[in-house]
Amino acid sequence: MISTDVVIVGAGPCGLFQVFELGLLGLKAEVVDSIRLPGGQCTELYPDKPIYDIPAIPVCTGEELTQALLKQIEPFAPGMHLGEEVQVVRKQDEDTFFVETSAGTQFTAKAIVVAAGVGSFQPRQIRATNSEDFEGSALHYRVRDPSQFHGKRLVILGGGDSALDWVLELAGKAERITLVHRRDEYRAMPDSVTRMKKLVADGVIDEILNAKATAFNGEDGILRSVVIESKDGESVEVEADHALVFFGLAPKLGPIAEWGLDINRKTINVDTEKFETNVPGIYAVGDINFYPGKKKLILCGFHEAALAAFAIKQRIEPDKKVHVQYTTTSPIMHERLGVEGTG
Ligand code: FAD
Repeated sequence: MISTDVVIVGAGPCGLFQVFELGLLGLKAEVVDSIRLPGGQCTELYPDKPIYDIPAIPVCTGEELTQALLKQIEPFAPGMHLGEEVQVVRKQDEDTFFVETSAGTQFTAKAIVVAAGVGSFQPRQIRATNSEDFEGSALHYRVRDPSQFHGKRLVILGGGDSALDWVLELAGKAERITLVHRRDEYRAMPDSVTRMKKLVADGVIDEILNAKATAFNGEDGILRSVVIESKDGESVEVEADHALVFFGLAPKLGPIAEWGLDINRKTINVDTEKFETNVPGIYAVGDINFYPGKKKLILCGFHEAALAAFAIKQRIEPDKKVHVQYTTTSPIMHERLGVEGTG
């Protein structure tokens, strides 16, 4: 059990900046995100696209913003728990919350900040006859242990980077790979496409374009074949032991809906003084929250994180007044930031 001041649900830009604002006030945070990389939408949806409206940064990409935020929070060394979804948030007693993730990590925290954006990114599911019979055995949306696919016949579905990365990684190790893509152009990096096409030309893997899987055949969770149907209606049955599906990620509000929060069309109602939800001690910042005038912009989330941090500090230390201090001149903030003061 990890005991901390604050658990932050979501490592998007607002969750990361929340670490900074809490750290300046001397509060320790643990950050959890269901995806394996920090940065939220900036990393998942537009890593290479330029952002022009971050104050004092004329232009940076989603990836650059994420890296800069990670650098900025380094002095506060937050615990980062990536690839884990926060599933349980409940009150433990008057002053603390119990939090548990999909990986079984447990926390007790004095406050929670929900910085969950548009929800937890989940793999898009395949829709094909009997596909659900093989989930957890022969149908996979992520690869945890690549060696389980060595020597096996694989059908890999998708046309983005994940699909091609796994084709390239497993080619020559799997007994056979059939790559199935619903279009004739790939979204993956051009270099990966070139390398994959060479494997096709060399007869190492098979490629079926403009087609999709329509049915899974087998018994007792053991896959025998996948039926692939082309756009013009022709079907082939490809023998396979496993199917790997990489159709990208889509956000889902998921377990947040079960934490007793006042949800308003996939957002959480908060006040604009503390950014606190209807549950005292649970705050919400960034795209996930709603209040009159809300704008889903990163800079608005940064402001919300600053005010939420002050409110959390006051909640944890109710008898002390929380003063505004400047990072330029505050010796205690210099100490927390690990920088030399100017006196
Ligand atoms: P997000 O970035 O959505 O991150 C939330 C994170 O929480 C996700 O990683 C998610 O996996 C995680 N999460 C959710 N639920 C759970 C759970 N239960 N357990 C664990 N993790 C969970 N904004 C601007 O200000 N300027 C721009 O120029 C701009 N350009 C954009 C361009 C595009 C193409 C898009 C899609 C958005 C753009 N935005 C822009 C919007 C901006 O990206 C969002 O406002 C910002 O990402 C919100 O940050 P966030 O931290 O609130 O949430």
